[in-house]
Amino acid sequence: RKITIAIDGYSSTGKSTVARQLADWLDYVYVDSGAMYRAVTLYALRKGFISEEKFDRNALVEALPGIALEFRKNKNGKAEIYLNNENVEEHIRTLEVSEFVSPIATVPEVRRKLVKLQHAMGEGKGVVMDGRDIGTVVFPNAELKIFMNASAEVRANRRYIELRDRGADISYEEVLDNVNERDHIDTHREDSPLRKATDAIEIDNTETNIEDQFHTILQLAKD
Ligand code: C5P
Repeated sequence: RKITIAIDGYSSTGKSTVARQLADWLDYVYVDSGAMYRAVTLYALRKGFISEEKFDRNALVEALPGIALEFRKNKNGKAEIYLNNENVEEHIRTLEVSEFVSPIATVPEVRRKLVKLQHAMGEGKGVVMDGRDIGTVVFPNAELKIFMNASAEVRANRRYIELRDRGADISYEEVLDNVNERDHIDTHREDSPLRKATDAIEIDNTETNIEDQFHTILQLAKD
């Protein structure tokens, strides 16, 4: 029997790493919902709808029907995101996109569009989806819900290493600021996407490694 696994939590808690591993192991579909919000952000940045100076929400909302998102597997079997038929997997991981994604994700029309898409991507299949509101909004009936957390410093350090490995010229402090900023936006809105579902199992991985955590969640999925 194939189930729906929702993995929510703060940024850089290793959600997507563990979700990807689970989907591979179980032969399920993996959906990185954060990548979808990031792709919409990339689109808005390219069109000049959002910048340090302004945010033209109306222009973004009007453009939404022209934004097509899908995941396709690359030759190694890894799901990558396409924005209007362009592979943007690398382009969405920049600090610039990270800086603008939270305000973009507050736009109700954006959320409605993406939640609908996410629902369609997982409906009736075995799916592992990670994000902020998967267990609460997208799949409130998911058989397994995980809520992941770790200290901001540990998360910033993971993200810093990741960005540095990709050649980005940034400091740990800048990354920590961005992590704190996104946590703040993601948790301080009345309609915040980031809420722990009452039936979610909380996992704090400040001190555990990805490997142990994978086995813990896999065991839960099998039970
Ligand atoms: O998971 P990731 O850090 O890539 O997500 C980027 C941003 O997208 C988050 O900081 C959050 O603002 C937004 N997001 C969201 N709802 C989701 C997934 C991501 O609002 N389900």
